[in-house]
Amino acid sequence: MADRVGQCGPAATAPLNEETQSNLLSADFLALPQAELHLHLEGSLQPETVCALAAKYGVPASTQEVLQRYGYRDFLGFIETFKWVSSLLRAPEDFALALRHLGEQLLAQNVVYAEITLSVGVMLLRHQSVEKNFEAIVAAAESFHNRGLQLHFVFDAVRQFGADAAMQVVEAAERCASKSIVAFGIGGDELSIPAKEFRRVYEKAGAIGLHKLIHAGEVGGPEEIRQAIELLGAERIGHGIAAIRDPSLMDLLAERRIPLEICPQSNIRTGALAKQLGLPTAQIQQHPLPQLFRHGIPVALSTDDPAMFHTDLRSEYESARRMGLQEAELKRITKMSFEHAFVSEKEKATLQGARRATSALS
Ligand SMILES: [Zn+2]
Repeated sequence: MADRVGQCGPAATAPLNEETQSNLLSADFLALPQAELHLHLEGSLQPETVCALAAKYGVPASTQEVLQRYGYRDFLGFIETFKWVSSLLRAPEDFALALRHLGEQLLAQNVVYAEITLSVGVMLLRHQSVEKNFEAIVAAAESFHNRGLQLHFVFDAVRQFGADAAMQVVEAAERCASKSIVAFGIGGDELSIPAKEFRRVYEKAGAIGLHKLIHAGEVGGPEEIRQAIELLGAERIGHGIAAIRDPSLMDLLAERRIPLEICPQSNIRTGALAKQLGLPTAQIQQHPLPQLFRHGIPVALSTDDPAMFHTDLRSEYESARRMGLQEAELKRITKMSFEHAFVSEKEKATLQGARRATSALS
C-alpha cells in the first residue's frame, strides 16, 4: 500500500508511561508463552496503518491526526473512534493487512495463542462480504501458524444494532463454516438493549457449536453480568469489572468458574473504571483485578484494543504488578488464559509447553 510520505510515518508517541521500561517483570516471567482472549482486530490498527488506509481511500488523516482520535476519556468517545477506524476497512486485503500487523505484534509479546474478535456486525452494516473478508483473514492467519502463533476467531455483533442484526452475525458464522470460528459475542453499548432480547440469538449460536461471549459489566452494572450468565449462557464475560459492586455475583463467578476478561488500560481510557468506582480520577492502582482474582474468580488478562488504548500485553501485566499482584499470581493468571481458551485440553497443554519464541522480550 502506498504510504503518504511524511503523513503516515510512525507516530511520535511518548512512552506508555515512565514505568514501562522498569523491571516490574522478571526474565523468567517474560519467557512464558502467553495467550490473549479479548482482542479486537479493528482496535489493533496502529495510527500509521490507519493513516495508510485513509490515504488509500482518499480520506485526509495524518498519523498525528489519527493519534489525536486515539485520545478519549469516555466510552462513547471511544466507540466513535472505533466506528471511524472500522469505516476504513473496506476490502478483504485491508483485513488481511490488519491481521498481519496484529500477528507480528502478538509474536513480539510471546503470545502463542489468541482469540481475535471480528466486528462482523459492522461488516454486515457496511454490506461487505463476511465470507470474503474472513477468507482473507484466515489466509493471513495461516502464515503465523508455522511461526508458533495459533489464532482463533470470535464473530462479534454490535449490541445497539439489535437482535435481528446479531442473528445475522451468527448466520454469517454458520456460512463461513470454519473450525477457527470458536465463539459468538456481543460488544458495543451494553446499556442500549436488554440482554433478554438476545436469547434466541445465543440459542442459535449454541446450536451451531459456538461458545458464548459478551461484553458486560464494563460500563453497565452487575445486573448486566448476571443476566448475561442466567439468560444468555455466557461462558466468559468481557470486562465484568462491575462485579466488584456485588459480592453475591462475585461468589457466583467463582463457584461457576466463569472468567472475566480483564483489560485494565481499556477501563482507564474509556472511563469505565472511573464509572464503576464512582471516582472520576480513578487510577490503574485502583483497578479491582486483585480483589476479583483473590476472590477465586478466573481472569484472563487482555488488551482489548491495544493500539487504541496505547497498550500491549506486557504493559497490562506490568499494570497488574503495580496493582499489587505478586509475580506468582501473575503466572497463575497467565495459566488461566490457557485454561479458559476455546481449544481442546490437548492443545492447551501443547500451547503452554510451546518453546519460547525468539522475540523482542528476550
Ligand atoms: Zn472488547
